[in-house]
Amino acid sequence: MLGKCIKKASSLSTIGQTMRYSSGDVRRVTLIPGDGIGPEISAAVQKIFEAANAPIAWDPVDVTPVKGRDGVFRIPNRCIELMHENKVGLKGPLETPIGKGHRSLNLAVRKEFNLYANVRPCRSLEGHKTLYDNVDVVTIRENTEGEYSGIEHEIVPGVVQSIKLITETASRNVASFAFEYARQNGRKCVTAVHKANIMRQSDGLFLSICREQAALYPDIKFKEAYLDTVCLNMVQDPSQYDVLVMPNLYGDILSDLCAGLVGGLGVTPSGNIGKEAAVFESVHGTAPDIAGQDKANPTALLLSAVMMLRYMNLPQHAARIEKAVFDAIADGRAKTGDLGGTGTCSSFTADVCARVKDLA
Ligand code: NAD
Repeated sequence: MLGKCIKKASSLSTIGQTMRYSSGDVRRVTLIPGDGIGPEISAAVQKIFEAANAPIAWDPVDVTPVKGRDGVFRIPNRCIELMHENKVGLKGPLETPIGKGHRSLNLAVRKEFNLYANVRPCRSLEGHKTLYDNVDVVTIRENTEGEYSGIEHEIVPGVVQSIKLITETASRNVASFAFEYARQNGRKCVTAVHKANIMRQSDGLFLSICREQAALYPDIKFKEAYLDTVCLNMVQDPSQYDVLVMPNLYGDILSDLCAGLVGGLGVTPSGNIGKEAAVFESVHGTAPDIAGQDKANPTALLLSAVMMLRYMNLPQHAARIEKAVFDAIADGRAKTGDLGGTGTCSSFTADVCARVKDLA
């Protein structure tokens, strides 16, 4: 039983999409299978969704950058067009050749749709032993500005300046998202993670907006903590945290730390969410060392797809697939090599499909 190993019977939930469908409607999703192990794990997700009768139709799209007349590589327009049509995407890992590739795709989609909240739930998995068996945290990272604004310049030779940009609007978007997420997902506490003792103005602004939003959610406990203190506490006693909200760079680092506590990037899902659209993706890379060998673990992409189903107001399908995945890992027979098992991507997928059908 999963309940044995985690403190709350929570799921890898997400905030619901504002658009509503009638029951029976088929929802179209833009699918970016990605490179390396991407096609294998994307095929696994598609098979499991089919077994679960999830009302999803996939629109696969190739995002290999194409060279324009000006010699510059760009994401094919079709990807952005499809995202405009479908508003929801599922993305596998993309290889990152220097200067082009997934970074520009992520940036292009994030900018185009203002996907301001990066959400990463991390929870302990029964059947996969890690340092703690009671991790159940969600990091919510501001996704559009902060230290990753890309504003850098050399002032004089040997002196480079990088601008950390914090705005009221982006801070309010992500802080409000974090409290709403907590409320909608039965979470008890939101912790704002910051360094306002050093970055007095930028993190100070971020923190003041978090306080402003906290006042609107009296049902959710609000805490403030320095990033360094959170890192220390997180590796000593992760059970004291619930939902954490923070600026871009802090979230990039802290979310990987949390992923490490529950078994690594191979089991960690994520969602990039804005007001109009969302893209869900595995956070691991293309794993070129095992690509094409049927060794990849599809769990991270599958759990990202489960987050997507909840976002699309399909909670029953989400719960069934999620339970099947967790049960398959707990059972252990089809577990893949990265989790210490002898299973393959195909055998794990077949196991999850059988469980999904049994749960119908
Ligand atoms: P990686 O995550 O691809 O691999 C690191 C290790 O983890 C490897 O040993 C790999 O076999 C293993 N691993 C990763 N995912 C796994 C899975 N699902 N199942 C089983 N094992 C898994 O990291 P890397 O080697 O540093 O990066 C490879 C490429 O991926 C690079 O081009 C990098 O830029 C790109 N990348 C893309 C994304 C993305 O698109 N979101 C994220 C990270 C890295």
